[in-house]
Amino acid sequence: MSSNPNNPNRPCPLERTRNIGIAAHIDAGKTTLTERILFYTGMIHRIGEVHDGATTTDHMEQERERGITITSAAVTCEWVQKPNDGIFKLFESEKQRVNIIDTPGHVDFTAEVERSLRVLDGTIVVFCGVAGVQPQTETVWRQATKYNVPRIVFVNKMDRVGADFNNVLNEVREKLHATAAAVLIPIGAEDQLRGQIDVVNQQAVIYSDDDKFGSTFTIEELSEDQKLIAMEAREELIDTVADLDDELGEKYLMEEEITPGDLKSAIRRVTIANKFVPVSGGSAFKNKGVQFLVDAVIDYLPSPLDVVPAKGQKANDEEAVVIAEADDNKLFCSLAFKLWADKYVGKLVFFRVYSGTVSKGDSVYNPRTGKQERVSRIIQVQADKHEEIETCYAGDIAAFVGIKNVTTGDTLCNKKFDIMLEPPTFPEPVIAMA
Ligand code: GDP
Repeated sequence: MSSNPNNPNRPCPLERTRNIGIAAHIDAGKTTLTERILFYTGMIHRIGEVHDGATTTDHMEQERERGITITSAAVTCEWVQKPNDGIFKLFESEKQRVNIIDTPGHVDFTAEVERSLRVLDGTIVVFCGVAGVQPQTETVWRQATKYNVPRIVFVNKMDRVGADFNNVLNEVREKLHATAAAVLIPIGAEDQLRGQIDVVNQQAVIYSDDDKFGSTFTIEELSEDQKLIAMEAREELIDTVADLDDELGEKYLMEEEITPGDLKSAIRRVTIANKFVPVSGGSAFKNKGVQFLVDAVIDYLPSPLDVVPAKGQKANDEEAVVIAEADDNKLFCSLAFKLWADKYVGKLVFFRVYSGTVSKGDSVYNPRTGKQERVSRIIQVQADKHEEIETCYAGDIAAFVGIKNVTTGDTLCNKKFDIMLEPPTFPEPVIAMA
């Protein structure tokens, strides 16, 4: 655990930072979902800065940029959850940051998927509500298991003919052998998809025609059928999680009251421990549904503080194993996970910081080559723009401009640190054109 996870200079506290991937079978809706998350978080980001004088032209510009960033190796979404911005009030007025790391969906890119899985702390696995669990997603699932990556499932396209949430939930259990239960249940399906039930908080949102916000209802305001679905799902969720989590299990056995907070914490613990998979369903076309999913990412997937710190070896001493703790005060250590040729910025080296911080003008050391190079610029691809940043902090993701002698999988660190994070076993880097 970091001695100072809340360095006041950080743009977002470490415990509310998430590095996630979105894994899906081709056509399941990964691109649409990513776009909607960027749109949604960009939108609330703008709502949070109403006096920033954004004009229509700015918006158009942002839309255009979003089209570019969506294909990037990593995109940072940052927003402030406002009290009346949604029904989850847990993180009121606090900054959240989700870095979405691209994980290629096609089976040919399996090695690339593995490489991405090493730098993320959790993933959303998207299934199509009609097609369900498909063979290639089983491969991605196995890889996530191999790298111990906690998952939440999103059953997408619930508005399509033939969509069946429970069927996909059962497939997750049977084909993927996951202990899973629903946390967000779609209300209705196909052209009758009307909203979502939040099982933990026993609330629901009913979509409105403009698709943006929808209205929030308490369980008492739901129809008898919906009320029953919400209550049964809560029972099932508690039953499943109490079996896996001692703290919740004890409350359950003692028949003590289980608050939404108790349940949420227990789900978080068992999800991070990879014993449980929360399943949600809806449609990427519905913004409100996307908001719930983003909330679930913050609620259930780990922050860099919750995961086992990266390990490495001293380049000159194979016996010495060093860990890189997620702490801004430690020496800088990062992993270069993707080289990217950006049309506008040039060669970008995407890196994840495991410990310490790095600033523009610093020299970074590559233990593989034994060389140091100076960082001329640091870029972060944000939901709607490329932003040049001064410093990148522990647990975060950004890209260096101007580093030449680097290959995917290299460690870039402070010279005093001088460790190689797990020897790189990756294939030759593929330079993608944005
Ligand atoms: P990807 O290959 O996983 O990135 O999938 P895309 O995001 O490109 O989506 C594939 C197709 O499904 C596109 O035509 C999307 O418009 C459509 N799609 C995505 N999400 C939904 C959804 O929630 N409902 C419906 N009906 N179609 C969707």
